[in-house]
Amino acid sequence: MARQIAPDVYCLGPRGRTQTDVYFVQSGSSWVLIDAGWANDGPRIEQAAEMLFGAATRPVAILLTHSHPDHAGSALQLARIWDCPVYLHPDELPLATGDFAAIARFAGPLDHWVILPLMRAIGPRRREAMLSGSSLREVGRPFESDAGVPGLPGWECIPTPGHTPGHVSFFRTIDRVLITGDAVVTVKVNSLSGLLLGRQGLAGPPWYTTWSWRAAKESVATLARLSPSVLAGGHGTPLTGPETAGALRAFARSLRSRHGIGRPRS
Ligand SMILES: [Zn+2]
Repeated sequence: MARQIAPDVYCLGPRGRTQTDVYFVQSGSSWVLIDAGWANDGPRIEQAAEMLFGAATRPVAILLTHSHPDHAGSALQLARIWDCPVYLHPDELPLATGDFAAIARFAGPLDHWVILPLMRAIGPRRREAMLSGSSLREVGRPFESDAGVPGLPGWECIPTPGHTPGHVSFFRTIDRVLITGDAVVTVKVNSLSGLLLGRQGLAGPPWYTTWSWRAAKESVATLARLSPSVLAGGHGTPLTGPETAGALRAFARSLRSRHGIGRPRS
């Protein structure tokens, strides 16, 4: 069951070992889904949508902060059921549509260690089949970050590259609600104990799946400058309350000066 974290904003999660969150955002009589969980989360997301908005409800769009499998996993399935587009930043679209050259170019450490060697080993034909199986080509649409957020007047799209090249966050200016995907999360994904125990606390994107740590740190600073009242990440329990903006500012400062774990590459 999704719970309200701000007016017209509902969170489904955190769920499972990865503490994944998806968000339902209402605007007037319509709504959008922000991120779409893992591949097997579709029925649960659909059910939560019906609890919130009524039977046979459908959103005007699905928006993705980025195209990783824990955020885009059920996007294709839900877009087909709901007959709606899936919007991504133009720089993210090649990754979401199975462009292997782009996947190799914007790879994170885990891709370099495991995924790319496997994908190269299986050969081009099987690789293309695998990539087209999860491709969003049929439903994915680019949207320009400075042209407003599809389906959400009053919200801004904040480019937050680093975790992936076309990662974006969403910000409602009137009450400073911020949905950050993996640009900032509220569970300690960058320490082993934090990850295993699900410890809550601010963290940058999981470094092992992050393309550019340098850009990711700059994106955290960009988000801190927004002074959010609600910080709703892609993993962990959303932060609300008067401490939120200060906590994010302090985290951005610590990230800038920190060495070792949490800043594995720059
Ligand atoms: Zn994630």
